[in-house]
Amino acid sequence: RAPTSSAPTRTSLEVLAQVFGYDAFRGDQAEIIETVVAGGDALVLMPTGGGKSLCYQIPALVRPGTGVVISPLIALMQDQVDALSTLGVRAGFLNSTQDGLERRRVEAAFLAGELDLLYLAPERLRVPSTLDLLDRGEIALFAIDEAHCVAQWGHDFRPDYLRLAVLHEHWPAVPRIALTATATEATHAEIAERLQLRDARHFVASFDRPNIQYRIVAKDNPRAQLLELLRAEHPGDAGIVYCLSRASVEQTARYLSDHQIPALPYHAGLDSRVRAANQARFLREDGLVMVATIAFGMGIDKPDVRFVAHLDLPKSVEGYYQETGRAGRDGLPATAWLAYGLQDVVQQRRMIDTSDGDAAHRRRLGAHLDAMLALCETVECRRVQLLAYFRQSSLPCGNCDTCLAPPQTWDGTIPAQKLLSTVARLDRERDQRYGAGHLVDILLGKPTPRITQLQHASLSVFGIGTELSDTEWRGVARQLLAQGLLAVDADGYGTLRLTEESAGVLRGTRSVLLRREAPRPARAARTRTA
Ligand code: ADP
Ligand code: ZN
Repeated sequence: RAPTSSAPTRTSLEVLAQVFGYDAFRGDQAEIIETVVAGGDALVLMPTGGGKSLCYQIPALVRPGTGVVISPLIALMQDQVDALSTLGVRAGFLNSTQDGLERRRVEAAFLAGELDLLYLAPERLRVPSTLDLLDRGEIALFAIDEAHCVAQWGHDFRPDYLRLAVLHEHWPAVPRIALTATATEATHAEIAERLQLRDARHFVASFDRPNIQYRIVAKDNPRAQLLELLRAEHPGDAGIVYCLSRASVEQTARYLSDHQIPALPYHAGLDSRVRAANQARFLREDGLVMVATIAFGMGIDKPDVRFVAHLDLPKSVEGYYQETGRAGRDGLPATAWLAYGLQDVVQQRRMIDTSDGDAAHRRRLGAHLDAMLALCETVECRRVQLLAYFRQSSLPCGNCDTCLAPPQTWDGTIPAQKLLSTVARLDRERDQRYGAGHLVDILLGKPTPRITQLQHASLSVFGIGTELSDTEWRGVARQLLAQGLLAVDADGYGTLRLTEESAGVLRGTRSVLLRREAPRPARAARTRTA
């Protein structure tokens, strides 16, 4: 510990200056710290980069005893402890990666009152001896980091987090502070409930990340689109590219490497040593692109991530916010770019329909997807829409695609009627399955082998849609799906079906407003010979 700590009690502001070298608190930090120092509970919702760590580190240094931090981020514990040590803060951790000797050394330090902070993996609380250990030492506070892991429907759910209510039951007098960057009211309420934080003060920071530019584009050739973006706007920058599947992670990483962009893969199917090595390189080297599934990123503290790109649609607005939030933690301009298309909607609807769990669970997943689609299809400011999801208001931001180039809308009622009538026609042949591609071929009047085989050229709707291109029709179908005017079957083919809502469009009593897609600029490189 720094020599200054010999003073009997230091104020929070002194610790901030002397240990961390900062001269002022940010946002709610002062009030949060004051609450916990005084022995009260706190629930802190603050975006990534907002400064959550100091909210428990400073009270741990000001109060007598050790601050016990519950964190699921085992891979980062060593780094966190090392970083604290360089500041003169005495910290240790207990998790499954240690050998018995190392663990006993940390336990002894804790019991001797020689630790300011003790990081604990949640599964440690499964072991009775851990509770025993904590009983024998002096505890300044409990900090529950990544507290949204207790939310059962959430994307980061950890069953061991449900166990954390024991902290309150066992040590009712020890203050607790739960922290998360997830912000919806549902998660908020679930955290308070499951962690028994009934009397906690709630601190909800603004979730706006003004330096992040939000952009959502229609997916056409996603890897080529990504490459264009990186070459034009982010040459040499570090960034994260999210893909849904492991296979697509591998392919995309290879594609970027083949095009002289240094990229590494990260997904749960890789050997844990490879994963750890790739993560370490990403953190330490400059200008690397991490291509990953959503398994990557929680707790990653790399300030200069200049872009986060999604090649597939995130499952929820919360997930999207968390993942894009890893960009620009240093406050400098960063890009959040998402490419999404018809196939994303079809695939995700199908995944929901075939997912485990009861009807209520599927409804919840469906509602999450709908909110994500609404964000993708909005013609208004993305930031306004994103913050509205977290019940925060904002003015149009001037730093998102819809603000920078307001999208045109067009009356898509007639194309919608054409597409829906085609679906209705095919729907009469109940035993047949058709993906969107076949539907579009019929509209365009393309004599494909499948159309010949099924004699679909004789349908009255064959060739009624030549006014739009293949891509435009896919855009129409995608937007109709997003608006609930079309549905996807859980049949494995992504067969499109009418919904109750479709009827009004077909009868002509309901009009359909569509977002005009910006055409991708044609490039010489894309022209094919032969
Ligand atoms: P979070 O955990 O909320 O994502 P961190 O606790 O990692 O955020 O803080 C993000 C960055 O901001 C860190 O580099 C941290 O040192 C810095 N920081 C936090 N609070 C302050 C402050 N009051 N003054 C200056 N820098 C701060
Ligand atoms: Zn905007």
